Amino acid sequence: MSAIRAIRAVRGMNDILPDVIGAWHHVERNARDLLAAYGYEEIRPPMVERTELFRRSIGEVTDIVEKEMYTFDDRNSESLTLRPECTASVVRAAVEHGLLRTPGRRMWAMGPMFRYERPQKGRYRQFHQIDVEIFGVAAPSAEAELIVLTRRLWRALGINGLTLELNSLGSPDIQARYRARLVDHFSAHSSALDADSQRRIRTNPLRILDSKNPAMQGLIEEAPRIVEELDADARAHFDELLAMLDEAGVPYRLNHRLVRGLDYYTGTVFEWTTDALGAQGAVCGGGRYDNLVAEIGGAATPAIGFAIGLERLVALLEVQSVELPVVAPHAYLASAGTRAAILAHAVAERLRDAVPDLRLVVDAGSGSFKAKLKRADRCGARIALLLGEEEARVGQMAVKDLRSREPQSVVAIDELAGLVARSMGAG
Ligand code: AMP
Repeated sequence: MSAIRAIRAVRGMNDILPDVIGAWHHVERNARDLLAAYGYEEIRPPMVERTELFRRSIGEVTDIVEKEMYTFDDRNSESLTLRPECTASVVRAAVEHGLLRTPGRRMWAMGPMFRYERPQKGRYRQFHQIDVEIFGVAAPSAEAELIVLTRRLWRALGINGLTLELNSLGSPDIQARYRARLVDHFSAHSSALDADSQRRIRTNPLRILDSKNPAMQGLIEEAPRIVEELDADARAHFDELLAMLDEAGVPYRLNHRLVRGLDYYTGTVFEWTTDALGAQGAVCGGGRYDNLVAEIGGAATPAIGFAIGLERLVALLEVQSVELPVVAPHAYLASAGTRAAILAHAVAERLRDAVPDLRLVVDAGSGSFKAKLKRADRCGARIALLLGEEEARVGQMAVKDLRSREPQSVVAIDELAGLVARSMGAG
């Protein structure tokens, strides 16, 4: 008889297991509270969109669209794609439902994204993002708000050592002029280009600046910089943003090689990076995309947004040994014997009714009271409530404080609620 082969998860798509879920909750809870406090509304677009949406927004000649999308035909032969990022979906939904008629609308979304990338530490095929967008604000105050908001989020999470990197890509005209200068520069040294850059010089020359190949670094350093192409308006916008950041005490590093991997950016771009995670150091990236709403079919609306990579934030919490709030049960109720087992859930429900915010776990295993007490101890509960046949018969319960050496006491079930509430206050 051959053993049945176990089915494993898809490569690059991870199970997020209970031992790390506390870190995920810490991130999600803080982000949700903070975004609400800054006036952002949550939106939940679907995970699947028409392929056309991403082709049009992210750009035909980007890595994502050329080789990373999970695209399939549905049963009606319509080409659909698992979202590789969320901005396009949020914009599509906002246009479709007329949400942008109110200017200055702020929105956020959270969930899994899908890219067929080469999996490695910090880079997965299903990963999670928190995506934050501001619509209808052309002034650099929108950039400044997103940046101070992220800084506050890092602080709330207990993460430190992140660096803010900034660049301005200017309008599409500016980018076109800059692209031509880059092509001239790299074409003049075409024999020194690696295969990837040879290809990109024809398709997406800005992305050559992103190359990590050590052999390319000299040539990239000598390349023209986009700031040299910025016109007076773009320059003034960027300078005003820098003044706002200076005033708010946010340090930053200007990085003329920061171009980002999506085509829709039209001005400021930024990333928060760390060197504590190895090669995958970007934990948050975003920028201004003033033309995207119109390109997706809405009225021209300036916009800006960013996405945070949750796997990388969770990894940072771990690397930086950030202490997470512990959510242990207050009480653990175990029974032994048929009559006691029948009573257990009824007693537990009465307790939950009577004691607000009570975290009470009812033992689900078998074995002796000793084994049950061990389980109670392991889950971090403060007190164990033990219901044996005799206690069940006379309406009592044995109570054991698991954090002190005091002997257990016996309490009438009717008096249990007061005792449990007092033990919760005892910290
Ligand atoms: P992007 O949408 O490419 O601008 O990415 C925004 C953020 O999402 C990055 O800074 C990362 O933190 C995270 N991210 C992007 N791609 C991946 C991936 N394949 N695996 C894990 N995190 C990712």
